[in-house]
Amino acid sequence: MELWYTEKHSDDVQFSIRVEKQLYTEETEYQRIDVMTSKEFGTFMTLDGLMMVAEKDEFIYHDMIIHPPMAVNPDIKNVLVIGGGDGGAVRELARYSGIEQIDLAEIDRTVIDVCRRFLPSTTCALDDPRVKIHYEDGLKFIRRKADFYDLIVVDSTDPFGPGEGLFTREFYGNCYKALKEDGILVNQHESPYYKTYADSFQRAHRSIRGFFPVHMVYQAHIPTYPSGHWLFGFASKHYHPVRDLQAERWNNLGLYTKYYNTDLHVGSFALPTYVKELLENA
Ligand code: SAM
Repeated sequence: MELWYTEKHSDDVQFSIRVEKQLYTEETEYQRIDVMTSKEFGTFMTLDGLMMVAEKDEFIYHDMIIHPPMAVNPDIKNVLVIGGGDGGAVRELARYSGIEQIDLAEIDRTVIDVCRRFLPSTTCALDDPRVKIHYEDGLKFIRRKADFYDLIVVDSTDPFGPGEGLFTREFYGNCYKALKEDGILVNQHESPYYKTYADSFQRAHRSIRGFFPVHMVYQAHIPTYPSGHWLFGFASKHYHPVRDLQAERWNNLGLYTKYYNTDLHVGSFALPTYVKELLENA
């Protein structure tokens, strides 16, 4: 008998991974959590039937959500990660000795507990003394902050269920307020390819560009995400992600990154025509 994990990427497209073993399943107050192992992607976690993190390709997502803003402003000191309960974004941030404080606002404590148990390679920096975990809705957490963070990372689920509020104008307006005058906001920006995801991508862009003078999008190839073509948003009050890239300074830090490098940084902001059109028409 074969066991397969199948995720619907559109009404007419499915993506499947052969499962060696289901390790965990639980329905929390917020979402359904499943953890499975597979030969191709290693251990992976899904939330409400959507892929969140897989051992084999998580380095791409986590490199790309953290290192681009850090290479633009290597002096970042105070960071907020919203969502991100798998710990991968925090792990990459913790590699920078200049960072003084990392707040993690994760709505679902069980995600963190489950990832600590089954995905130690992503949760390994959660006990770093600079990390403070807040078990709270990011939408509420951010309302209380003003002029404090150098960087906010929105490492959320898709805009269904608990992640829905993290795609709204109210949320991005509060992120703007919570950032210092040279603050940067980076968010997982969905995929441009299938319509449902492209709608979410346009919605997020619409909300962000209403507040931030710099609002750009960059891309990466992530095999386990719908269509494999994934976008991130780079919004800022001051820095331009390509013109202000501090390549030499970042390279002198000597950090090894399996996906990110400063050449790719520049190239990732060059977008296909249809994606540029989606942004213009958002
Ligand atoms: N890399 C992932 C992706 O895009 O597929 C994101 C992974 S991370 C596990 C997403 C986390 O966001 C989940 O743990 C979920 O509980 C959390 N989350 C969803 N809505 C949230 C909210 N409103 N406030 C804080 N955390 C939230």
